[in-house]
Amino acid sequence: MKKQLATIALSGTILAGGMMADMPTAQAAGNGPDYQGHETINTSILHTYTEMVDFLETQEKKQANMELEVIGETVKGRDMHMVKYMQNPDNPTILYIAQQHGDEALTTEGSLEFIKQLGTGKTKGILENVNLLIIPMYNADGAMGDVNYELEDYAAKGDRHLTRLNANEVDLNRDHDAKTQPETQGLHENVLQKYDIDYMIDLHHQGAQWIKDDKYVSGAIFPSHPDHTAPDVFHGSQQLGAVVYDAIEPKGWGHLANYAGKGSAYDNGISVYGLAHDYDISTLLFEMRGTQDNANDFEVLGQKSNGYLTKQAVVAMDAAARAIADASIQDKDVSFWDDLPVQEESPY
Ligand SMILES: [Zn+2]
Repeated sequence: MKKQLATIALSGTILAGGMMADMPTAQAAGNGPDYQGHETINTSILHTYTEMVDFLETQEKKQANMELEVIGETVKGRDMHMVKYMQNPDNPTILYIAQQHGDEALTTEGSLEFIKQLGTGKTKGILENVNLLIIPMYNADGAMGDVNYELEDYAAKGDRHLTRLNANEVDLNRDHDAKTQPETQGLHENVLQKYDIDYMIDLHHQGAQWIKDDKYVSGAIFPSHPDHTAPDVFHGSQQLGAVVYDAIEPKGWGHLANYAGKGSAYDNGISVYGLAHDYDISTLLFEMRGTQDNANDFEVLGQKSNGYLTKQAVVAMDAAARAIADASIQDKDVSFWDDLPVQEESPY
């Protein structure tokens, strides 16, 4: 708490020249107002599925190290894309999954930004030592609102709504055990059973109402389950969490809590649990603040927060790739998990 107050005071000094609007407030780590009808939310500022595919195809032409793979097909027949950087199959491998829930779109925006960065000098040296598998838009039908049920009373304006479930109204992040959906089957058959994956970050958004130390969190992190994961794999999950925490918490907008609590009961159909249990992957669930569309206003965050939340996804992905590439992740101390407060729900 002391550190946050110091950050605010410092920001105030620096920004006193006239950028007060960007100053962090006592209520929120980031700079966007809560939704609750206070501002317009428009889905047109987010990549559509087609725009994403165009972007990926352009990057593939530009980036010698990058390969674009189709790993399956959605219910509505959209190709599921995975971006692959694999210079040496013997290197450690990390999988990033974004937008299992179609209304959690800044995970996709962050993934595309990260992919772009990987084609620049900024990430020099990383790709020789770590393999990256990135699925930027897992639930493409939900992300496009192209589903077999009505989307009434959703908050966002624009040509489409974004929705959590897939076209068959199934929660894809409860389907990793039963594997009833084509999206799940594609991931398991063409990625999880094909590659030797060591780490995985599953990128999500949660509702906008969660707090730590009386301040809205920028996100929450959560490792695999200690009782359902091999001890070394669980330790790797905690180390992956430490890498992400250490990269984000010092940022002015960074404010991470432990996700544990509501919605974290063990279920092998949830990727953070099931992939650790079934494939010995050190998994991390990363829930960023506020979804981009929803029928419940409290789930949605104003789009003025999009900048820092997209950046937060990039910082997390980049930090994990670097720590695995230089093996520093293996020395990460995990004791911070004992002190990391579990987030609490606050009305806003
Ligand atoms: Zn989610």
